[in-house]
Amino acid sequence: MAPITGVVEKKIVDSIFDVIRNRFRPNTRIVNERDDALRELQKCRDKMLSLQAQLDAKAIVERRLAEYECHPEDDSIYWKKDGSGHGLCPYCVNAPEPRFTPLVHGNGEGAYECGLHNRTFSTRERRNRLAQMRHNSNGVFGGRRGGPWS
Ligand SMILES: [Zn+2]
Repeated sequence: MAPITGVVEKKIVDSIFDVIRNRFRPNTRIVNERDDALRELQKCRDKMLSLQAQLDAKAIVERRLAEYECHPEDDSIYWKKDGSGHGLCPYCVNAPEPRFTPLVHGNGEGAYECGLHNRTFSTRERRNRLAQMRHNSNGVFGGRRGGPWS
């Protein structure tokens, strides 16, 4: 009888240990769900930060754009409202990702160029000045252009 009792006692003791072990062992399913939720949370946080960065960048561009206004009379060059600084190419400003690359002076006063778009722009003042020069030139030479062959 004694050995059988010993086996039974051992089984009872083992099952008590199992109960205690399981009580204090973390539930694997819950731990895995928690880890999945943490990963999901991290992904959401990264996406939120990325979207916030895009919004911040867009806000900066819009604030900068608000400093300029389009001048249709100057081939739609964007000039700063306070009259300072360089003009901006309308194609650059109106691109999906606006650029603030300054126009460079072109051939003569009032002529500007955008190297990126390979375009030239003229101010109204320049066009008027050139028209006046042509007009004056025609007046001086009686409507004929002078040259070594004439
Ligand atoms: Zn441009």
